[in-house]
Amino acid sequence: MLTTMSMKNAYLLSVLDDLKAKSAHEPEFLQAVEEVLESLEPVVEADPRYEQQNVIGRMVEPERIVMFRVPWVDDSGKVQVNRGYRVQFNSAIGPYKGGLRFHPTVNLSVVKFLGFEQILKNSLTTLPMGGGKGGSDFDPKGKSDAEVMRFCQSFMTELQRHIGPDTDVPAGDIGVGAREIGFLFGQYKKIRDEFTGVLTGKGLSYGGSLARTEATGFGLCYFADAQLRDNGQSFQGKKVVISGSGNVAIYANQKCTQLGGKVIAMSDSNGYIVDEKGIDYKVIQEIKEVKRARIKTYLDYVPSAKYVEGCSGIWTVPCDIAMPCATQNEIGETAADTLIANGCIGVFEGANMPSTPGAIAAYQAAGILFAPAKASNAGGVATSGLEMSQNSERLSWTFEEVDAKLKGIMEGIYAACAAAAERYGMKGNIQAGANIAGFLKVADAMLWQGI
Ligand code: NDP
Repeated sequence: MLTTMSMKNAYLLSVLDDLKAKSAHEPEFLQAVEEVLESLEPVVEADPRYEQQNVIGRMVEPERIVMFRVPWVDDSGKVQVNRGYRVQFNSAIGPYKGGLRFHPTVNLSVVKFLGFEQILKNSLTTLPMGGGKGGSDFDPKGKSDAEVMRFCQSFMTELQRHIGPDTDVPAGDIGVGAREIGFLFGQYKKIRDEFTGVLTGKGLSYGGSLARTEATGFGLCYFADAQLRDNGQSFQGKKVVISGSGNVAIYANQKCTQLGGKVIAMSDSNGYIVDEKGIDYKVIQEIKEVKRARIKTYLDYVPSAKYVEGCSGIWTVPCDIAMPCATQNEIGETAADTLIANGCIGVFEGANMPSTPGAIAAYQAAGILFAPAKASNAGGVATSGLEMSQNSERLSWTFEEVDAKLKGIMEGIYAACAAAAERYGMKGNIQAGANIAGFLKVADAMLWQGI
């Protein structure tokens, strides 16, 4: 599963070997760390303090992990039990910040990989947020609203003792949207008797920020647009394939259509749709957010579209631009080769770690554009940071104000990644640039703060 190491630095190799020995059963976490450490080689070699103070060894170890039982009663009266997690990874530059994922595939490895990525992502936003992540193997799909509420209440009954507006501020992720955040916030308020910005992604009537719902998808397109323009390209007239049909995918569709692209395929975990005329994001929004139905019902709205069972085939649909917005490791080497053979000019990641190491190697060998998730999907957490600012000020900004700040942040992240890559002799390698730029700020803070 892991790539063959091209890394030579003895210190980085020893950190990785140690981690592999301790975390052998955490493949996603090891994959995320290895990808970052490879990029950090020139940085560690240029500044001996990172090794002397063992900054990397400290950074790959979470400050704290909380695992807990989440018992709840289903609609038939049966007692169910799920497992809850919160990984508080790094607080060097601010309170822990990162989403909660409710999906049957959630385990410690997944939460640790997401938490580790979050450290560097949050650093890239330039806002004062540390890295954390959490979730549960609970599956909200097919559950009634009452069941989801009882689960969220039980989850928060334990989580509330570990979080707070200045300690750890969770948000949404896969399976955690406006409904779940509302139930979680309601329970936190009930137990702690305080109305604070302890969660982001809240509803607008109780402290949420305008444009937070759209932020990850919009931010992804602002980032992609900056990268395309820097390489003499644009969204104009491009065929775009977006995997997933959740929060990130829907609003990536909306923004890339506004920027002149045409979204011709989208998916859910059962299958994908192809509509060469262009998929209207409002139809997907209705199917997914209002009806909570499967994507194949798109054919009820657009009978001329095609539905294919099985989600992985979406990458065989010829396109100019690919935006994976579903889940980790959804583009492997074969899918990457197919995209490249079909003339794809760039892969812009909306989901976290959607490309395997083999896929990334294929993009690099082919010289196509690649936007790594920790930079290109940082718009969600950046806007969560803006929600925290508004909560602290007890003010609400307009949609246009938040959107303009988001656009500025995403363009700034692209510029910072490009500059870091160039400074360390890897011009154009936005993946390495993102890892380096994200790392430097956190590492500097860790050096200042001592052991
Ligand atoms: P949602 O739950 O809203 O949507 C997830 C989408 O991906 C759904 O279409 C879902 O299909 C599909 N999906 C999920 N798991 C799988 C799987 N194992 N195989 C195939 N398809 C799958 O989640 P989000 O849109 O919020 O998140 C999508 C990605 O973006 C995740 O990687 C998340 O970590 C990342 N992200 C999200 C941010 C946010 O602000 N929401 C911020 C930054 C990153 P189905 O409905 O069938 O399950």
